[in-house]
Amino acid sequence: MNNTNNAMNVDDRIFVAGARGLVGSAIARHLQTAGFSNLLLPSRSEVDLADQSAVEAYFRTQQPSHVFLAAAKVGGILANNTYPADFIRSNMVIQDNVIDAARRHAVRKLVFLGSTCIYPKLAPQPIKEEYLLTGSLEPTNEWYAIAKIAGIKTCQAYRRQYGFDAISLMPTNLYGPEDNFDLESSHVMPAMMRKFHEAKISKAKEVVVWGTGTPRREFLHVDDLAGAAVHLMQHYSHEDIINVGVGKDISIAELAALVAEVVGFSGEIVYDTSKPDGTPRKLLDVSRLHAQNWRASINLRDGVADTYRWFLNYGPK
Ligand code: GDP
Repeated sequence: MNNTNNAMNVDDRIFVAGARGLVGSAIARHLQTAGFSNLLLPSRSEVDLADQSAVEAYFRTQQPSHVFLAAAKVGGILANNTYPADFIRSNMVIQDNVIDAARRHAVRKLVFLGSTCIYPKLAPQPIKEEYLLTGSLEPTNEWYAIAKIAGIKTCQAYRRQYGFDAISLMPTNLYGPEDNFDLESSHVMPAMMRKFHEAKISKAKEVVVWGTGTPRREFLHVDDLAGAAVHLMQHYSHEDIINVGVGKDISIAELAALVAEVVGFSGEIVYDTSKPDGTPRKLLDVSRLHAQNWRASINLRDGVADTYRWFLNYGPK
C-alpha cells in the first residue's frame, strides 16, 4: 500500500486542476515551497475543465505526469440547495473529463478530492471510510454528494480496469486563504468571519448566524490539507478512500465565539433558526491517515487568525 513507485520527482510536470481555488492554490503553494518547479496551474480561461475537447487538448500538449484534481463546483448549504443542477452536472463533467484524459495520456498518478459531506447524513461518529454508501445522504447537498461519489467510483473503476493509480481523499470542512467570502454561497467559517468583521466596522450590536448553533463540525486549515495531499500522492496507493481531518470537532456556537474573538467583535450573536442546520455532526475517524504517518499541525485558533489576516489584505472590501 505504501511507497508507490508513482511518486513525484521535483522536475515532474504536475498539473493542479483548480489551481485558483481554495484547495488547488494551497496545493500549488505547498509544491512550490517543496521545490517542485514544473507546475501546470492553468486558469479557467486557459482551460475550461467542463469542456472535454479543451481538456483533451491540454493533456495532449502539456503531458502532465501527475494530477491533483482539486477543481469542483463547491458551496455552502444555501448554494447547494438553490443550484442542484449546477452542482451535480459541473462536478460530474469536470471529474469525468480530467480522470479520463489523465488515464489516456499516461498520467502516472492522480489525487481526487472527495469530501466528508458525502457520507450518510446519520453516519455513526467518528466517521470511518467504510461508512460511505451505507445510508441516505443529507438532502441539502445530495446533488454534490452523488457527483463526488461518482468521482470516487470512477477512480476505483479505472484502477481495477486499467491499473490507473488514482487515489481519493476525503477532506473535512476546509478553511483558509482564497476561500469564498460571499455570504450567500460560502461555507460557515468565511461567512462568519465576514459578518463579524463588517459588524465590528459598522459598530453593529448583533450578528445573525444561521441555524441553531448546535451542529458540530470539524475544521481543517487548507495548508494542512495540501500537506496531506502531497504526502499521500507520494506514499499512498490504494482504491480505498482516506479521510483527511484533525479528528476533533466543535459546535457552530463555539465556532462563532472563536471567530468573533479573533475578529474582535464583542456584540451579540443571534441564531436564525429559519435557516437549515444541515447534518447534525460531522467528525472524521482519521486513524487510516495517521497510519500513513501524517497528522494535521495547524490548530484552529492559529488557523482562524491566519485566515483573518488574509481576509484583511485580500478579501472582499
Ligand atoms: P455544511 O458543513 O455542508 O453543512 O455547510 P456550511 O459550512 O454551509 O454550514 C455548516 C453549519 O454552519 C450549518 O449548520 C449552518 O446552518 C451553519 N451556519 C451558521 N451561520 C452560517 C452562515 O452564515 N453561512 C453558512 N454557510 N452556514 C452557517
